Amino acid sequence: MAFTAEEFKILTEKTMLFLIIMDKTGKVHNVNTRTEILFSLPTKQIIGTSIFNFVLDDDELHFRKIISDLSNDSSQASDTFRFATLISEGVLSLKFDFIYHNDLIYASGIDMTEENEEHSALITLSKLTKTGAWYFNPAKNQIYWSKECYILHDLDPKTPITREKGVSYYSAESRERIESYLDDLIRTGKPYDYTEEITTEKGTKKWVRVLGKPVMHNKKVIFVNGTIADITERQNYIEKLKYNEETKNLALRGIRSGIFDHHFDINATYYSTDFKKMLGLPTNEDFISIDLLQKLVHPNDLEAAKKRHIEEIKKKGNHYINHYRLRNKEGIYKHYEIYGYRKKDKRGRTTRMIGNLINVNQRKINEKIIAENQNRLSAMVNNSFAYTVLLDIKGEILMADDTSLHIIKRDFGVDPMTTPTRFINVMPVNFKNHFADSFNETIQGKEIKKEIERVTNKGAAQWLEVKYIPIYNHKEEVTTILVSFHDITESKSAELAVKEAHIKEQELSNLKSNILANFSHEIRTPLNGIITISNILLSEEEEPEEKKKLLEYLDQSKNRLLKTINNLSHYSEMETIQNNLEYEEYDINYLVETSYREYRHIAATKNLTYSLELDESCPVATIDKNLFHIAINNIIHNAIKYTEKGTVSVTIKATKKKNTIAIIIKDTGIGIDKTNLKKIFDPFIQESIGLSRKYEGTGIGLSISRKYIEILGGKITINSTLNKGSEFIILIPKSL
Ligand code: ADP
Repeated sequence: MAFTAEEFKILTEKTMLFLIIMDKTGKVHNVNTRTEILFSLPTKQIIGTSIFNFVLDDDELHFRKIISDLSNDSSQASDTFRFATLISEGVLSLKFDFIYHNDLIYASGIDMTEENEEHSALITLSKLTKTGAWYFNPAKNQIYWSKECYILHDLDPKTPITREKGVSYYSAESRERIESYLDDLIRTGKPYDYTEEITTEKGTKKWVRVLGKPVMHNKKVIFVNGTIADITERQNYIEKLKYNEETKNLALRGIRSGIFDHHFDINATYYSTDFKKMLGLPTNEDFISIDLLQKLVHPNDLEAAKKRHIEEIKKKGNHYINHYRLRNKEGIYKHYEIYGYRKKDKRGRTTRMIGNLINVNQRKINEKIIAENQNRLSAMVNNSFAYTVLLDIKGEILMADDTSLHIIKRDFGVDPMTTPTRFINVMPVNFKNHFADSFNETIQGKEIKKEIERVTNKGAAQWLEVKYIPIYNHKEEVTTILVSFHDITESKSAELAVKEAHIKEQELSNLKSNILANFSHEIRTPLNGIITISNILLSEEEEPEEKKKLLEYLDQSKNRLLKTINNLSHYSEMETIQNNLEYEEYDINYLVETSYREYRHIAATKNLTYSLELDESCPVATIDKNLFHIAINNIIHNAIKYTEKGTVSVTIKATKKKNTIAIIIKDTGIGIDKTNLKKIFDPFIQESIGLSRKYEGTGIGLSISRKYIEILGGKITINSTLNKGSEFIILIPKSL
């Protein structure tokens, strides 16, 4: 078989084969012209180079092995190798037959590039898809597995495979069924496709999908081709999906809501099945038209819901909110809130919206109940006779009646319904002392009741009954405190009036006995004097000097008796006197001086400094002389009577401005204490009653004086300090 290079060239010129002569090291000895394509070099340059300069790296080892294995003249080999070519800038797959002769290797290759590419693509694909090929010969009961089938079962590819072995990977229960698939196919020629679980050699569970296809000849199945694919991942995914779907469905059932997916191009919505069932919408249709849903919306809600829908669709961002009542299949309307997420096209128009319809019926019902309760409560609060304030445990106002709110707004400029307001900061000042303690006790669970006196902003006295009532939550904790103020002024006044009346009654009964005691004393004392003195005088035993003294005493006793009787008659004849007055103009200096003189004598016996100051303008008043005298006399007499040492002064002062004449009678006597000051003009009151009766008198003098001065159009005021003295000011109108 040895050719000269020339012969070789000519002989092989026309062939489509690539012919290469090399030695066992791979050194090229000769090539035909076609091989120039393979090496992209002129033949001359190829000769002498190594074939391995051109074989792909992956294939080099195998190539070397093949040529080194060729050891004797008869050895032959055949295999496909890939070469890099510069001409096509790609890979050429050549199937070579090698013949060994005289230490040289004669290789003839055929271009298999196309077939090889298809094949390797298939192999890659089967690797990628984890799919193995198998075939079965029914006549021989022989089965063949591709390498991928072995890998899939974790089985060593060298292990011979039988039908029984193949079936053994399935679970015991399903083996019979698996066998029947193949048997049926062989019998009927019908292809099959099943998905089953296998357990590999390593014990791994895998899901496989097996396809079987018959090859027919004369209507008989002579061969079965098939694939087996590992679909574990997909199966797991589907299982997961199923689980997720189940979870979703359960969740949706739980929240009584509906997932929706609205498509604007067809103006229809996809609703979850449960939701459709709940509303009685057809479950066999995926999409529900808007019109159909609109029929379920409560007629009163429809217009507003549509309006909102349009606004929401147009608004910025992706969110969507709406709400309306929907009629369920029982014909009952329930409240729903709709929350959506909008998908928009490039122009910003909403094309699709996915979201959730949430049943908020219970919440709406609760809200309604709360609102109703709130109304009832505020009606109660506003229509009761009390001011009512509801506080939380921090003392902040939660609620109050309208009047209280009005007062707080007016006096403090805050509205507790909009601004958190602590009650202590807006309550009337005189409540604050009681509040903190009562409030704290109420938090402990006590009910507190208190009565408080205050002055209203109009200046009137007001009595309030304050109640603190604890209000408990369901856990029996005090969370709210009701403070109510009840106006009890009327009942309180009545109560006080009763008390006062009672005191008055007591006073009157005391008075009665006092009057009797005073009068009997005032009559008995001078009368005793008169009786004793007249007896002595009648006995004629006394010296003329003594007689004169006794007659003076007699005169004093007569006067005292006369005064008492006169006063009594003045008092009882008050009415008659008023009707018989004689008004005339009098010089007040003159009238007062007359009265002053009448008591000079008594003042002298008491060693008092007794003075009179007249007014130089000689003021004149139109009065009844008698009434004036009696009034003034009583007061001057009292001043001397109740003064042991010091001064009694009488001053007349006319004031131009007010056109009045003041007669001021001032003493440095025993004075009158504050409580009695109010009473001394009451008839039959004597300051010294109950203590020691040091001063004579009946206790009606001042009441007569005041009455008379009032009849004359004037008035009496008094300033007095106990143990220091008193000042009586009589004002009468001046005649102009
Ligand atoms: P009486 O006849 O007891 O003096 P009055 O009506 O004149 O009765 O006076 C009432 C009371 O007022 C007296 O009892 C006395 O306690 C008190 N009183 C009146 N004037 C004076 C005074 N100038 N100084 C102190 N107390 C006075």
